[in-house]
Amino acid sequence: MKNLTANKEWVEMRDNIRRAIHSLEVCWKCQKVSECHKYILGHTVLVWLCKGCLIEMEKPLPERSKNRSKATAQNFPASWGSFH
Ligand SMILES: [Zn+2]
Repeated sequence: MKNLTANKEWVEMRDNIRRAIHSLEVCWKCQKVSECHKYILGHTVLVWLCKGCLIEMEKPLPERSKNRSKATAQNFPASWGSFH
């Protein structure tokens, strides 16, 4: 009985792998072949992105150089001193 269940799981796993392979695409950003997801770039262009790049694209870009001192000041609230 135990083996029968195991076999069934194996078949399911194999099917899942097969399905995953079918969904493999070349990532638009890092050019790696991976299981990619659709991403609408600039609300107009459809591209394929791997999971890592998708997360990177979705998180807001950190503000560099521009208003840096202002942002840093905001990152340190007045209650900062209470940690010491
Ligand atoms: Zn990628």
